[in-house]
Amino acid sequence: MDFSAIRKVRDVEVAGQRVLMRVDFNVPLKNGVITDDTRIRAALPTIKDVLARGGRLVLMSHLGRPKDKPEPAYSLEPVAARLAEILDVGEVTLTDSCVGDGARRVVLDLRDGQVAMLENVRFHAGETKNDEKFSRELASLGEIYVNDAFGTAHRAHASTHGVTRFLHTKAAGQLLEKEVEALGRLLGKVERPYVAVLGGAKVSDKISIIENLMSRVDVLVIGGAMANTFVKAAGGSVGKSLVEDDRLPLARDLMARAEERKVKILLPKDAVVADGPDATETAIVASNAVPAGRMSLDIGPASIAEFRDILSRAGTVFWNGPMGMFEKKPFAEGTLSVAKAIAGSAAFSVVGGGDSVAAVTEAKLEHGFDHVSTGGGASLEFLEGKILPGIEALLP
Ligand code: ADP
Ligand code: MG
Repeated sequence: MDFSAIRKVRDVEVAGQRVLMRVDFNVPLKNGVITDDTRIRAALPTIKDVLARGGRLVLMSHLGRPKDKPEPAYSLEPVAARLAEILDVGEVTLTDSCVGDGARRVVLDLRDGQVAMLENVRFHAGETKNDEKFSRELASLGEIYVNDAFGTAHRAHASTHGVTRFLHTKAAGQLLEKEVEALGRLLGKVERPYVAVLGGAKVSDKISIIENLMSRVDVLVIGGAMANTFVKAAGGSVGKSLVEDDRLPLARDLMARAEERKVKILLPKDAVVADGPDATETAIVASNAVPAGRMSLDIGPASIAEFRDILSRAGTVFWNGPMGMFEKKPFAEGTLSVAKAIAGSAAFSVVGGGDSVAAVTEAKLEHGFDHVSTGGGASLEFLEGKILPGIEALLP
């Protein structure tokens, strides 16, 4: 897909126009309070640009997974309030519903440089069904459509896909552009050696990405619970570690294919083991000799040293998936060390995936990365080589 064929919002005359913009404001909430507003801040460059140029901005987003009807717990109200605070405007009006007369009145009242927000688009079944009538109703609220919601670009929903059929002018926002540029670089000609670090819970979640990256990278570093399946497939004992026995043949096949392609697969040499995730007593053992009854929950110090060495010499690094059960302190070291090694390397570096990005931001290492992807599933699908429907829909 040729992204350069897609218009960029900065090239669109927005003054006096109603700009209907899909953003990803699906922020984490705890008792109605936003615990992390990264997603709101990520859309600020485009929001500020449109407002500064006199656009009449109508924002729309989903939040959580309401069941096709209004549920107060999933109202975008706290998001509208936080956005008003960040933009330092008195209030960001939130419509009662994302479609209908109320919404129409609010958007018609907008003056140049003002912003309003539509209530959660997933309060209507038409959103996830990509329903034509619902898409048409959404489209009627703006003259220009902008998509800056990279995190939902892998979904063909009304607000990311259907709506584009009913608006003449459509464009990509700055966040979307930045994501496509950075992730696109990982699929093109890169500085070598190219190292992909993959971890997380399951091989089965990451098969397509392993397969697609296999034809591009020089080294595939595997950690996390995913490594257990490879270690066992290679004949090791993994005790009662999390392992996918039904994927052992797949792991063997991937290792054989890597060898054919001369791609080096690097598995952890050692592991931090314990009786279970809540245990505080840990031991270091060889990753292929985990005693029966014990669980491998992080990569060990020898693995950290080896991974660090590879990363320090890399030209390009993509990282997805924690090296261990990093949510628990005794098993966080591997993930933190890898994050630090990548942040400190001179390589062009990208991290993607909800949990991996959380680990990076928690450690305040995001500035060490060239790109921290805001899209969990979307960035992975992009790197699997898929064409994302929300991006494709922006083609003229
Ligand atoms: P991402 O969201 O970055 O794509 P995943 O969702 O694939 O990452 O994987 C993250 C999860 O994997 C975390 O909840 C983490 O606890 C778990 N995990 C990683 N290593 C292990 C392990 N050795 N044993 C059990 N769980 C693990
Ligand atoms: Mg995850």
